[in-house]
Amino acid sequence: MPKKLIDTFGREINYARLSVTDRCDFRCVYCMAEEMTFLPKADILSLEELLTTAKALVDSGIKKIRLTGGEPLIRNNIMWLVEAISELDGLEELTLTTNGSHLSQYAEQLRCHGIKRINISIDSLQADKFKSITRTGNLQKVLEGIDAAIDAGFESIKLNSVILKNRNDDEVLSLLDFARQKNIDIAFIEEMPLGNIIEHNRLLSFCSSDELRKMIDQEYGLKPSQKKTNGPANYFSLANSKTHVGFISPHSHNFCGDCNRIRVTVEGRLLLCLGNENAIDLRELLRDPKINNAALITAIKDSMLIKPERHYFDLSEEPEIVRFMNATGG
Ligand code: SAM
Ligand code: SF4
Repeated sequence: MPKKLIDTFGREINYARLSVTDRCDFRCVYCMAEEMTFLPKADILSLEELLTTAKALVDSGIKKIRLTGGEPLIRNNIMWLVEAISELDGLEELTLTTNGSHLSQYAEQLRCHGIKRINISIDSLQADKFKSITRTGNLQKVLEGIDAAIDAGFESIKLNSVILKNRNDDEVLSLLDFARQKNIDIAFIEEMPLGNIIEHNRLLSFCSSDELRKMIDQEYGLKPSQKKTNGPANYFSLANSKTHVGFISPHSHNFCGDCNRIRVTVEGRLLLCLGNENAIDLRELLRDPKINNAALITAIKDSMLIKPERHYFDLSEEPEIVRFMNATGG
């Protein structure tokens, strides 16, 4: 009997995002506040606990795991975890989302440890604007990271760009051109109201995927693509190019109906929905000597009962979800 996780709306949940740290070397304005308090060490799962969690997820029916954060590549000994998870029986794919700042150091090892596809976030190709969006980031290092990933021979590389009105919406075509030149994919993301930020007003910075799609279509002519990645992006192809363009539209085109995912924060909270606090505490179970893999699998299966049907994001109100994206595992 194949293992399957099915929620109460009949959706098969086969994808987990596992956050390996809430820390980051960047402070992107849509993701974090300028001054952040990070979790004390005792509260975060050890690498061994993260591996036990990954095993229980896979034994429950999860087929794909994405490592994320915070910035996953700044977690000490992350390569040990990557290697150990990639060897789990039953896991079909291990992927990673990174800000790229440490990729030139790790791209080759990630590829050797079985990561075939990787997402790299980049919101601007102008050094000063890149700095102002990330607050601390160095564009040159990220560009070197992207080149290192291309040289390492990943089967697929996708850039992720969060687009904010009057901030980087004028760079959509340059970001797309950059992806075309490098023969890699790109997805444009609508900002989500996670965490209380004061740096900008999310209602005013909202930039809809429809607007971007129209702009790109006029320039290049977009054709719907068959590309599917198990994620929420809607993909299009461009004439005379291998590049696929995706749009992730949590506001304008709610994708919850097809939701196939859960998230585990680095504190061990299994979150059933990005825009909702329904969760179970895996850390308590992981640290209980009486609890074994079978009990973890039961807890994960039971959590399906509280997976909500959808999120209700409203940019005009105070964010209902006060945890920041770095603490959520984006
Ligand atoms: N640090 C890594 C990175 O930036 O790729 C991985 C973690 S980050 C939280 C994962 C993704 O979430 C990034 O592509 C980032 O742009 C996106 N993100 C962060 N905050 C967001 C928000 N409020 N709305 C939409 N996307 C967000
Ligand atoms: Fe760090 Fe990624 Fe959040 Fe930017 S989006 S602050 S890189 S975790």
